[in-house]
Amino acid sequence: MMERLSISRFWRIKDLHYTFAYSKCKKCGHAFYPPKHVCPKCGSRELELTIPPREGELLSWTKLYEVAPYFENEKPLYLGLVKLGEVKIMAQIVDVFDESLLKEGARVETVFRKVKEDGNSGLIYYAMKFRLTSK
Ligand SMILES: [Zn+2]
Repeated sequence: MMERLSISRFWRIKDLHYTFAYSKCKKCGHAFYPPKHVCPKCGSRELELTIPPREGELLSWTKLYEVAPYFENEKPLYLGLVKLGEVKIMAQIVDVFDESLLKEGARVETVFRKVKEDGNSGLIYYAMKFRLTSK
């Protein structure tokens, strides 16, 4: 049977793509990103896809000089480990104008950014990233 993609369902899916949706285990409470079908801690398959808050706290970060070709004009690349609510997520930090602001406990927010453009197919790829909040 074909399922029609209703507007509300579309928006729900869109929400999941535009956030760092993570898995939460209903059995042991473990929260992890990226989402999986089995809890890495207790092996349970009873997982719930959960949307984290948009803002979080920087736990640690690192600077990469060797990057994939399509990141070439973003060198160096900052990679941060961020605590968003109950889950820890590793992702790129963008818009770093002052490196001294990158420290443990700094407030960060999630942003949706273009990763690359495929000139041949016209496709544009996006991904979730972090940036320091202006507050
Ligand atoms: Zn578990």
